[in-house]
Amino acid sequence: MDLIERHQWRARDPKGVVYLQAPPRGVKIHYMGARVDPGIVDDHNRCVEVVKSVQRQHMDVNLWGDIGYTGCACPHRKVFVGRGPGHLPAANGAGLNAKHYAILALLGDEGLVVPPPGLLHGLVDAIEWLRGEGAGREVKGHRDGYATDCPGDQLYAWVRQGARRPDDGGGAVAVPPWHRVLSYPPLMEGDDVRTWQARMRARGWRITVDGVFGPQSREICRQFQIEKRDLHVNPSMVGRVDRPTWEAAWTSPIT
Ligand SMILES: [Zn+2]
Ligand SMILES: [Zn+2]
Repeated sequence: MDLIERHQWRARDPKGVVYLQAPPRGVKIHYMGARVDPGIVDDHNRCVEVVKSVQRQHMDVNLWGDIGYTGCACPHRKVFVGRGPGHLPAANGAGLNAKHYAILALLGDEGLVVPPPGLLHGLVDAIEWLRGEGAGREVKGHRDGYATDCPGDQLYAWVRQGARRPDDGGGAVAVPPWHRVLSYPPLMEGDDVRTWQARMRARGWRITVDGVFGPQSREICRQFQIEKRDLHVNPSMVGRVDRPTWEAAWTSPIT
């Protein structure tokens, strides 16, 4: 994932910081709700300017302590750190901010209105990033909270359809090479175990990424296989990461 830290986009310092008391249930998706020049697709520097202008608007006009979003995704599959994980966002509406992180898509209600594939990948990257930081598995649109156009009909339909990467199964995500069946007992250790655990964590599972395949990894593997019924797991492979189970961790839609 291509994360742009605050100093990299030269964010202003926040005027106030409010920490979340508990991990949110998930993420809400937003859009700009204004015209976005389709020319940003050809020039990432202009994405940076848009994000800076959003922060300016939120701090100088809305008089918020910082940009209202947890993060922002752009068409170049980059994710700008906004308030960041652990911080209360401001964009979801009063009373709704502690429940979900807020992710802005650089997409408009005029101009750039069709989400480019890089933007959808960036949004999924942002969702996975925040899940890795403790967010729950819900993905919703701003309008699920109250009546608003946000995040626009196109993005909202995408959210409702499962917020999937474009070209599902089309190799959009590189699957790391599978070397061997991961199983327990006995304990198995290795970089491939760590790779699989990190991937499962990014998918939202509460798994320790320690490179050791033990009872917890076996149980999460088993639950994942149950969730992905169409894997048709061989009974002897339940709780064991065989090649199809490994590949599904990268290619299967996150549900
Ligand atoms: Zn919104
Ligand atoms: Zn960009």
